[in-house]
This record gives sequence, C-alpha cells and structure tokens, in this order.
Amino acid sequence: MKTQVFGDIRVDSIAEFDNWAIEPHWLLVGATAEGVAEHEHWLGPRLVEAGTGKLIVRSHAYLIRTRHHTILFDTCCGNDKERPDCPQWHRLQTPFLQNLARAGVLPEQIDFVMCSHLHADHIGWNTRLHNGEWVPTFPNARYLISKGEFDWWSEAIDTGRVLSHRKQPFDDSVLPVVKHGLATFVDDDYAIENEMPDEVRYLPLSGHTKHHCGLYLRSRSQDAIFAGDAIHHPIQFARPDWVNGLNCYDRAAAIQVIHKLIARCIDTPTKLLTAHFPAPTAGCVVSDAGQTRFRFDDD
Ligand SMILES: [Zn+2]
Repeated sequence: MKTQVFGDIRVDSIAEFDNWAIEPHWLLVGATAEGVAEHEHWLGPRLVEAGTGKLIVRSHAYLIRTRHHTILFDTCCGNDKERPDCPQWHRLQTPFLQNLARAGVLPEQIDFVMCSHLHADHIGWNTRLHNGEWVPTFPNARYLISKGEFDWWSEAIDTGRVLSHRKQPFDDSVLPVVKHGLATFVDDDYAIENEMPDEVRYLPLSGHTKHHCGLYLRSRSQDAIFAGDAIHHPIQFARPDWVNGLNCYDRAAAIQVIHKLIARCIDTPTKLLTAHFPAPTAGCVVSDAGQTRFRFDDD
C-alpha cells in the first residue's frame, strides 16, 4: 500500500507476511470450493490461488501518523510466539520491526497501540521476547485496550469457557503490557483525536468478538474505516453470510456488521482499510451492475 493521506493524517501498511493461502472453509464457515469458484472470475489470482481455489490473505499493521501522535493499529502475530495450533503463526521470524523502521518509525516512537480485538493475530507485536521474558515492544506507548474485550477474555479464561490455546496469546501478548503499567482500558468508541479537523476513534463492530472494534479516522472531511476482523476477504461482499465462524463470538452479529459496513461505505469516498485483504489492503466498496464489489486502490 502506498502511503494513504487523509487531510493531515498519513497511514502506512507495515507488513508481517503476504500470500497466505487458506482453505475456504477454514477461513469462512459455509464457504465451499464450488461457492468460491463461482466468484473466481471477478476476484482474480490476487484473491483466489490459481489451481487450488484457496483464499489468499495477508497479515499487517497500520501505522497512523496524525499531527500529534504516532499510532499502531493491530499488531499482527509477532515473532517467537508459541502457536502450535496454527503453523502459519508459530515461532515466526519476520522483519516486521525493520518494516516499521523503513517507514521511518522506531518502537520507542509509537505513542498509542490499538487492537481491534484480542485474538493472536492482532496482538502479537504488543510484546517481544527479551532474555526469555515477554516485554512490551513499544515501551513509550499507551496500549488502548477495550475494557469490555479485556474483561470478556479474562473471565472466559478464568472459567475455562475458551479452549486453552486461547489463553497463551492473552498471557504472552496482553498481560505483560498490563504488568508493565502500559495498558489503558477504554470504551469501545474511545477517541484519541477529537479536535477539529482530526478524528481518530475506536468504532464498535461487535460480532467477531463481543467487543471487536474497528477504527474510524477523519481529517479535513476525508475519512476511512479500519475494519479489523469485521471482514476477512473480498468474497464476503458477495457472500456476507460466510463469516469467520470458528473463532467468531456471534455469527449473526458478524453478518450484520458486514451489511452495516457495506451500507456505510458503498459508492462513497470513504476508504475501507482491511486487516487481511492482500496488498494494497485498502480500497472502496462499490456497486457494479447490481453487485457489491471491492475496488482495490490499484485497480
Ligand atoms: Zn484476524
């Protein structure tokens, strides 16, 4: 993604990995090979792997620079994390911090870390391994964590409501931040910037998790919605009934959220900045001969 400019705010994508091809039914409950094949002609090889019909996704963070603050939204999987249940995320060694440096920012310069939700692939770089201990990667940042999301996971883990492999990411990527005093628990519509002309705030998009939040950004009347895991792949514009059900808190709500995003963005200049669409990750929701489609910025 080229640097996106919204008024006085600049946004860059910081890559963790690209081109992860996933079995459709693993990413989206209800998706079938035949169902994907029906849409392959408009999705193309960027989004559906030729020959296998697998859906292609990416992992990256957004670096947001306002006049006052440097913000990181969603912190990917992280390096060295033990994720034996998901080989793609297990003990990664990626140049994520070098990619951040290439965008001109050192970890010490991040003012705020925001995470759409507390799944392993959105909190990983919250911490890094240092002398055998998980320490905050961004030592001068305030980590803005939804209070509702944190409480939900704390209780779910304490009561054994979630599988034990869910506990590990919470233990290695959330609790160390709290222990080091860098966490601030906030409401699901918390605003960092709300002085005209700039606005940067969490946007409640409950469904994928109970307190899943996107991010809303506006500056000088140009705006964007960061979708987080409200949508995983552009095929969902045609099949909003296919959602990431395995990990999903409330499938019906997750489907409603996709409809809400479409209604909010379709045929408007509002940019949709996604968490898992392949590069350039950003684009607009458009209607095309009665169908809802995603127009990537480079289309
Ligand atoms: Zn995700």
